Amino acid sequence: MPRIPSARGRLKDTPVHGHKRVLLAAPRGYCAGVDRAVVAVEKALEHYGAPVYVRKQIVHNIHVVTELEKQGAIFVDEVDEVPPGSHVVFSAHGVAPSVVNAAAERGLQAIDATCPLVTKVHREAVRFARDDMHILLIGHEGHEEVEGTAGEAPEHTTLVGSPDEADTITVPDPDKVVWLSQTTLSVDETMETVRRLRARFPNLQDPPSDDICYATQNRQVAIKKVAQESDLVIVVGSANSSNSVRLVEVALEYGAKAAYRVDYASEVKQEWLDDAVTVGVTSGASVPEELVQELLGDLADAGYGDVQQVKTAEEDLVFSLPKELRKTRSGATDERALGGRVGRSS
Ligand code: SF4
Repeated sequence: MPRIPSARGRLKDTPVHGHKRVLLAAPRGYCAGVDRAVVAVEKALEHYGAPVYVRKQIVHNIHVVTELEKQGAIFVDEVDEVPPGSHVVFSAHGVAPSVVNAAAERGLQAIDATCPLVTKVHREAVRFARDDMHILLIGHEGHEEVEGTAGEAPEHTTLVGSPDEADTITVPDPDKVVWLSQTTLSVDETMETVRRLRARFPNLQDPPSDDICYATQNRQVAIKKVAQESDLVIVVGSANSSNSVRLVEVALEYGAKAAYRVDYASEVKQEWLDDAVTVGVTSGASVPEELVQELLGDLADAGYGDVQQVKTAEEDLVFSLPKELRKTRSGATDERALGGRVGRSS
């Protein structure tokens, strides 16, 4: 396990006007897709031995990536960096068909850890392209998930990066358009983008079901409630984690006086706590709980030992492992072959 940078005792317990407390959002942290992807790399290392190659960060969290590197995972940007014949894991964010083909041509043994909820969006893109619809993909340019989804039907897809872009994009036939989205966006901002698209294209079709996943939605619902009562919100998550960055934005939008994202508790600055009576805490979908517990320890040192959980949903979804890993070395079916249920906001 990589050491979590420790900063215990660094934060001072300074007086404020009121009873210091933490509101701890729930759900927070690991989602089913991240858990599956991380376990997939661990199982691959166990089954095949190190090194196991992983295309891109398996999930967008620096701590998780560092831990897996120590166990023998090698992270690469593209499959042409992987020695022929090796095992390569595709990340939770998914890959375009061109990447799958490149891996096969190189003779790589691919293990697909794409989150099933991302795969669902890929299937929608394929189906709508087959029906000759033009896809308006709401998402962030350059994000791996968007590259993977757009790669399913590049000639049929236009990326819409923001509500403002909805006002300017052009399409081949305004009557044959459908919108899809990245799974980790702000729900409110996405709905605003759709509203503006529909104002221009009244026959715009909706996706068959939500593309923004249950985990993203649940974490946003929880932080909205926490933010309303918080002077400061701290989100644990990495800078390239879309859903973590969205949590900071949502917290500010819903009433937090200040909100910051940190990879580690050691990044919290003393001045953030000045006059903060209530501190909201949450974490992105790729963040191990131990990082949150480290933060709570530091906050307790600063006088915020009263931790009250704000729970807005139950989650009990478990995804089965990628099919390449469902058998153990002894041939028995791995217990993670079983699925589970999706948590809903209450
Ligand atoms: S955030 Fe959602 S789409 Fe992404 S891995 Fe988690 S469950 Fe899957």
